[in-house]
Amino acid sequence: MPAIYRLALYGTESYSNILLVAVASIPLALFLTSVRKWWIFVLLSIPLMYFAGNETFVVVVYRHYMKAVNVLSMLITNTTESRSFISNNTLAVCCDVPILVLWGIGVWAKYKASKPSYKYFAFSSVILAALLFFAKDTKIMELPPYNLPVQYYNAYTINKKILQAAAQPKVAIACHQTNPKEHESYVLFIGESMVYDHLSLAGYKRETTPLLDARENLTLFTDYKTNATLTMLVAPLMMTDATIEDFYRSYSGTNCLQVFKQCGFKTFVLVCFNHLDQDPPLTAAADSVFCVDKDIEIPAIMDSLTKVYPKTFFVVQGLGNHCYFYNFEEQDNLFRPNPYYDPDVQSDSLYYNAYDCTIHYTDRVLDGVINVLNKDSMYSVMLFASDHGENVNPGDERRSVSMTPQESEYHVPFIIWRSKKWIEENPEKERCILANKDKKTYIDNIFFTLCDVASIQLPDSLNKPEWTITSPSFSATQKRILLTPDGKTTINLN
Ligand SMILES: [Zn+2]
Repeated sequence: MPAIYRLALYGTESYSNILLVAVASIPLALFLTSVRKWWIFVLLSIPLMYFAGNETFVVVVYRHYMKAVNVLSMLITNTTESRSFISNNTLAVCCDVPILVLWGIGVWAKYKASKPSYKYFAFSSVILAALLFFAKDTKIMELPPYNLPVQYYNAYTINKKILQAAAQPKVAIACHQTNPKEHESYVLFIGESMVYDHLSLAGYKRETTPLLDARENLTLFTDYKTNATLTMLVAPLMMTDATIEDFYRSYSGTNCLQVFKQCGFKTFVLVCFNHLDQDPPLTAAADSVFCVDKDIEIPAIMDSLTKVYPKTFFVVQGLGNHCYFYNFEEQDNLFRPNPYYDPDVQSDSLYYNAYDCTIHYTDRVLDGVINVLNKDSMYSVMLFASDHGENVNPGDERRSVSMTPQESEYHVPFIIWRSKKWIEENPEKERCILANKDKKTYIDNIFFTLCDVASIQLPDSLNKPEWTITSPSFSATQKRILLTPDGKTTINLN
């Protein structure tokens, strides 16, 4: 059924695939129809119903079949996020109705039938078992309905590898701060779904970031690209020295929270309904993790903590500009009509406008963080980079991220703000920031640059000045790779 939906909705399915799905489904259908007792039928078909519903939802929303990363995203999402996602995809939910109707007819037919047919049952079971055994490495397993158990299994193995990597004992690394200060604070702010071209800071026609536009000592990097379009594949890499080619090392390798803690900083994670509240291994080195209800609450908490502790390091991850762009307040309601303030208005640009309202909101949040750091006596730097972008096009705004990512999904804002005190103390690093702002930059630069702005000297084995934007040796020649949401295919972005 999902294959037929894909054809009907988007016309992108090949007839050979549909034929293959139909033929491969015969033994499964035979198996189910051969069951005579209605309650056995119900028991056997419930998991299939669950899989079919999942698959249909993914087909309608993402235009591809279920992948392991979709399964993982579903498992680690929080209830607020999933509720909003489901309520914004009512078409996908409605597409499950024919499946439910067919299932209801099946239960009714079984209830009416009386004679059990054990021969028929045994025969179809054998064919089904043979198919699953002999066809396990073929294309059939990439297509519904058999891809679902396969992708659930793949998701299980990915999760297992993450947990295994996270379980490895953490070894202290030989790092130290070469120029410690009495009062200093550094921030890694992980943005959510922010598209570069929607910031007035980047020349966008709408005034979406008026507060950042007016800030001094703030640099927007014009050619920064991320490594993936799913938060769970990006946030771990931003916080560690791992690269997309050795993703699991982000759970066993060197984490920025650990490095700053070892150098005498109090380390905090502040998160608002996002990945870091669901990924304890990644935040284990933090002194505290604060989960907040609104992004805008983040600056006030940071302010209190910087008043108590003289040396602080924060990893922040807000809800940001997450689809479907509801994360903003009345004072950001500047771009109309949008679905939250103009529910009765018909327009192709409802979500396009709402997206810009969320950028305006994020502008206020980032400005609030800079206010906390912008104290006369404080040495401070904020690195902000969005995890990935988004498809925000009028008329086709509800696709979120795609299997074949567009530039708006991986060309994202990367910003460095620094305090006056820090600039006075680090003229060479300041010169490098300004000199490198239009060069090719990439997610792999974040960890090393973060350590360098805090004058943290990493051991030689870890040190990578060529990846450190604040170093005179920074070279913009690194390979920039994007991992697509199938978790396997990579695209060269250089
Ligand atoms: Zn994200």
